Amino acid sequence: MPAIEKPGSLASGPSSWNPDFSHLYIEEGAREYPLTDMVRKRFPEATIVWVKDYRHFFNRPGQRFQVQKHSMKLVLAVKKDGYIYDGSENAQDFGVSNFYYTTPLINCIYNCDYCFLQGMYPSANLVLYVNQEDLQEAVKQVARHPPDPKQPLLLAVSYNTDLLAFEKVAPLASSWIDATRDIPRFLMEIRTKSANFRVLADLEPSSNTILAWTLSPQEVIRPYEKGTPPLSARLNAAAKAAQAGWKLRLCFDPVLKIPNWESVYPEFINQVFTAIPASQVTDITIGAFRMSASYFKTIKRQRADSDLFFDDYSHQDGLVRYKDPDQQALVDTVYSLCKAHLPKDRIDIWL
Ligand code: SF4
Repeated sequence: MPAIEKPGSLASGPSSWNPDFSHLYIEEGAREYPLTDMVRKRFPEATIVWVKDYRHFFNRPGQRFQVQKHSMKLVLAVKKDGYIYDGSENAQDFGVSNFYYTTPLINCIYNCDYCFLQGMYPSANLVLYVNQEDLQEAVKQVARHPPDPKQPLLLAVSYNTDLLAFEKVAPLASSWIDATRDIPRFLMEIRTKSANFRVLADLEPSSNTILAWTLSPQEVIRPYEKGTPPLSARLNAAAKAAQAGWKLRLCFDPVLKIPNWESVYPEFINQVFTAIPASQVTDITIGAFRMSASYFKTIKRQRADSDLFFDDYSHQDGLVRYKDPDQQALVDTVYSLCKAHLPKDRIDIWL
């Protein structure tokens, strides 16, 4: 099996759990795709289960997301529709309205407590779509005629997953970087917590791609971002990417109201800009913890183990967030710290 970045907490369960990807569920229609072939070769000992349509078992009710996280299966499927989604309503990026996202892979090898995927999908198993070319063609078509022709088209490609963390299983990030590098007026964000920059190190940096590292204080990573690389490893990877000439976005999102956050975050931001010169940072996004109320409700039912779901939140307009003035204070504090390093117009805020 290939070495993948293995969520440490998941590897420490009872010995009766199968290792991740011990089983490949493959749609019959996905059989002849080169990506299917590649993944089968990477997991030569996996048990293959042929299925007609993965949605029949992926979407079945009553599954236990966190139990599945202990032994994730990999599904190979053909995406039949929904190649590209309009993201402009819920995630405008630096004020650009031509904002889209796509889902080449769904679910993630990491297991952050605050991950909205736990509320979005009934299953924690990963689904890899083997017809990536169809998704890429759909993106190119929209890019040819964007709704607002005066603005560039922004695409989030690692929206419901962490593509870079998965790159050794299937080189999706590389494929998307190459497929989009010549599209005019286009910027694709690959957001990650991975320390796996070396998988892209041989690629020519693309001015159409921004590599975006989600960074958190170690005091957040340890309890709430299970299985993810430590801050020092992420900083190291991000610094290497910037040195190699990639556009670099730093994402301080979600900012969490952890004990002593008022002193933890200044120290953390200082650590970030000691490791990465501000001159190598393209931009920054900041957001305090927030989640759709329906996802929050679903996740809370399953996460008695996480104190994150038992704070005294505000529930308003379909969103769960910290009550003011805390929400505002968290964002304002990180924003002020970042302003000392980058001009205001390169810092995007989510409240
Ligand atoms: S890295 Fe992102 S997608 Fe993966 S578990 Fe964490 S929040 Fe979810």
